[in-house]
Amino acid sequence: MKTNIKNLSLSDLGERLKALGFEGYRARQVKKWLYQKDVSSFDEMTNLGKEYRRILSEHFSIPSMSVHEVHQSIDGTRKYLIELPDGKSIESVMIPTESRNTLCISTQVGCAMGCKFCYTGTMGLARNLTIFEILEQVAVVRRDLDNSPQPQRLTNLVFMGMGEPLVNTKSLYPALEILIDPECFGFSRHHVTVSTVGIAPEIEKFGDKTPVKLAVSLHATTDEVRGQMMPINKKFSLTKLFESLKKMSLPKRNRITFEYVLLHGVNDSLDDARRLAKLLSQVPAKINLLLFNEFPGAPYKRPPDEWVLKFQKILLDKGYVAVIRKSRGRDILGACGQLAIEKSAA
Ligand code: SF4
Repeated sequence: MKTNIKNLSLSDLGERLKALGFEGYRARQVKKWLYQKDVSSFDEMTNLGKEYRRILSEHFSIPSMSVHEVHQSIDGTRKYLIELPDGKSIESVMIPTESRNTLCISTQVGCAMGCKFCYTGTMGLARNLTIFEILEQVAVVRRDLDNSPQPQRLTNLVFMGMGEPLVNTKSLYPALEILIDPECFGFSRHHVTVSTVGIAPEIEKFGDKTPVKLAVSLHATTDEVRGQMMPINKKFSLTKLFESLKKMSLPKRNRITFEYVLLHGVNDSLDDARRLAKLLSQVPAKINLLLFNEFPGAPYKRPPDEWVLKFQKILLDKGYVAVIRKSRGRDILGACGQLAIEKSAA
């Protein structure tokens, strides 16, 4: 059976080609065709001789995935439901702003973390995505944007879709390497962010594995409240989480982003804001205050806007960068996993 060539890490690709008798520089040519030029057949690799192309097509395939549905929100957010080779579905959400186009990527089908504020958390985990399935989300959306009436460019990637990226590191790190390689997708490492609920042992190693940015879904300032919202906190408490963050190597001037979804009456007291400021003083930090995307049956409410501003002011007064992030794509159910759930329930 032929190997899916887009499911190999860059080092595996190099080794496989070397074993087939290709000179070292050929791997660079092949990766450029695959990821920069996005070809769908080996015959299109015109700077490789006929014999090389024959050997490649004898051993490898170049599959691609297709978009099942696209939902466009009135605010421009585009939600892609993408069909995987085994018939399962995942989703990727493209969020345009004036200065950037950000794609929110999934790393698993479903998720085992069970965060109470998240719709995907109600699905459970079906499986991890492969390297190919992570990369192909970017490729699929890039093709769609290239072919739109006003072609646009993807500028930023956030790993905040379905799944917890740091429990699928086997696919995550090779995919990240290909995404930031200038001869492949070529994203700036400053424009790629991996978001975690706090898998402490993996956080410690993160900075040694990849130069991209890290975000932590924090969402509470005490173990009691965080444990109720996010079951992972029972395994990795706030103390353990911050110990791992302090051990992580962080490039100079980089800060860790902390995501904090404000849930009225749960984690949005002014004491919470003060505790948050104190907790974050342990590491270089900035804060995204998220307005909760209410979904059918959700056990939480978002606080009034004036309250959000009071909460933010406490953080600003302590010298933090604290940005309020509005929900995008609310009319198409913008929170992660919702479209895929609707589809599987259909
Ligand atoms: Fe999983 Fe992320 Fe949802 Fe938590 S918020 S259940 S980690 S997808």
